[in-house]
Formats: sequence, structure tokens, C-alpha cells
Amino acid sequence: MPEQPSTTLPDKLMFDFTRFYVLVILYEGPIHGYGIMRKFKERTGKEISASLIYPFLHQLEARELVEQKIEFVGSKEKKIFELTPKGREFCENLFERFSEIISSAIEPSLETCASCGAKIYEGGHEEDVNGKKMSFCCVHCAKSYLRLIGSK
Ligand SMILES: [Zn+2]
Repeated sequence: MPEQPSTTLPDKLMFDFTRFYVLVILYEGPIHGYGIMRKFKERTGKEISASLIYPFLHQLEARELVEQKIEFVGSKEKKIFELTPKGREFCENLFERFSEIISSAIEPSLETCASCGAKIYEGGHEEDVNGKKMSFCCVHCAKSYLRLIGSK
């Protein structure tokens, strides 16, 4: 049997996208278990199984990060899950750490504008400068660069 890595719960969560995404959904507001499954499917295009989600919710509950409330729809009882203030704080810390990891992974591969040096996240503007393709954040930067080097 493979040995279980001895990570703490927050670290394990960090590297588990599914659970991470469930927290993102919970952070948006109180929701039913099936609502989590539906949103997960809508956003990621992937199914999430009840056998994964409920044990996870109960784990969060045991750590007082989530609480269950009963809502009545007619005579039917429905359980809704809601983050506690402690749970919201936990999520905020987690999201912050996660975005730091993501930006440090992405940044080195980003191109920078040849004129102003800004990072080009998406789109940007390519311009042929003396037969060489150069990247700019926008058309205005491309124009001022061309003016500067006296081309066109
Ligand atoms: Zn620029």
C-alpha cells in the first residue's frame, strides 16, 4: 500500500483542485449539496461525485469551517451548507496563497511591452518593426515606440 503523505489539511487542500473549487463555491454563499455539484459541473465541465463532496463537507464541519442549516421547502427539509466566519477567513487565506502560486508560475512566461515594459496578460498588440515582430501592450505603445525609433 502506498504511504499517505503526511501533509496537514490546509496543504492537502492547496493541491486538490476539486476541493479548492468547492470552497470557491461555498464562499459565494449558502448552498445545498446538490447546488455545489451543479455549479461545479457548470463551471468546470466536470462531474463531482456525492461520495467526494459530502465527506469533504463533513470534514469542514468538524473543523468548524462550515455549518449546516436546515431549510424547509414546503414540508421538505433541505440541508444547506454555509461557511462560518472562521471558514471565510480560512478561504481568504487559501485564495491569497493560491493566487500567489499561480502568478509566480505564470509571470516568467509573460511577454512585456517593448515600449512601456508592462506585462502583456492577454491580447496585446503585435507590430512589425523593421521586419521583426515585436509585442506591445496596446496599439498606442506600438505607435509611440515607432515614433521614438523614427520608423513610419
Ligand atoms: Zn505598453
